[in-house]
Amino acid sequence: MNKYRVIGIDIGGTNTKIGLVDADGVCLTKKIIKTADYIALESYIEVIVTTVNKLLALFNVEESFKGIGIGAPNGNHYKGTIEYPPNLPWKGVSPIVELLKRHFDTEIILTNDADAAAMGEMIYGAAKGKKDFIVITLGTGLGSGIVVNGEIVNGHDGFAGEIGHSIIEINGRDCGCGRKGCLETYCSATGLINTYIELLKKNNSYPPVNNTIIDSLYIYQQALKGDKLAIEAFDFTGEMLGIGLANAVVYTSPDTIILYGGLANAKEMIFSPTIKSFNNNLMNLYKDKVRIIPSGLKEDDAAILGAASLISHRI
Ligand SMILES: [Zn+2]
Repeated sequence: MNKYRVIGIDIGGTNTKIGLVDADGVCLTKKIIKTADYIALESYIEVIVTTVNKLLALFNVEESFKGIGIGAPNGNHYKGTIEYPPNLPWKGVSPIVELLKRHFDTEIILTNDADAAAMGEMIYGAAKGKKDFIVITLGTGLGSGIVVNGEIVNGHDGFAGEIGHSIIEINGRDCGCGRKGCLETYCSATGLINTYIELLKKNNSYPPVNNTIIDSLYIYQQALKGDKLAIEAFDFTGEMLGIGLANAVVYTSPDTIILYGGLANAKEMIFSPTIKSFNNNLMNLYKDKVRIIPSGLKEDDAAILGAASLISHRI
């Protein structure tokens, strides 16, 4: 039996998670560092190198070490770079793979974080054995990884699969990409918060009492308590997402769509309106052929497993 080990690195705006993963998809050990503590790319690379070496030493990994997979926002699979990320400390283009290659004589693959999530689902999670599916990550924004015929779709420049930036509303909400009405301005934690605030304002109940900080967890808890506006905010988010997903289906005809990330933890509160709207808006040709399901990965390790699977996929 092949007892290989790989390193998975998930680079996020808040945390960078580094884990050692075995051939069965078990994260043996991990370490979390604060991304924003490393304003200079050189010092960030240095801490990554030190941490990876520590994890490898801890498990005496030598010959069984097969490589490093990295998931990152705005990650370019072809170039091994992170390009113009809105929420990371390093501006412009950061040649992450090239810099790490100076320290490790092993295979290093970097890709977009949502694409890594999709690969993770295919190797270890809810998309095992599937060849045509889409993973939607519902966090601060909306990311997507599209798999066709068993392969991630990268496009000619490495930036394919930005479903979050398909325009769903003409002259809609301002998006971080500089345009208006993108799907992620409605269907993300940020989108949900803005919808809830809009509803509160319409009902003359904004700002809320005691200056409560409104985040997606608060809205979820309010919805569970029966707060009508919170439930309406989830219903609207699901309705928009259902339309966005029904649109996405016509391009690649997936059999499964996996919802992953913070907002997907709201379970029925988000799944139910999304599936209803999806079925109402799906073209007849695809009716009853596409399932919308939750992630099959343990949440704490999901992003590390996704990154690790970039290497495991090739073994
Ligand atoms: Zn946009």
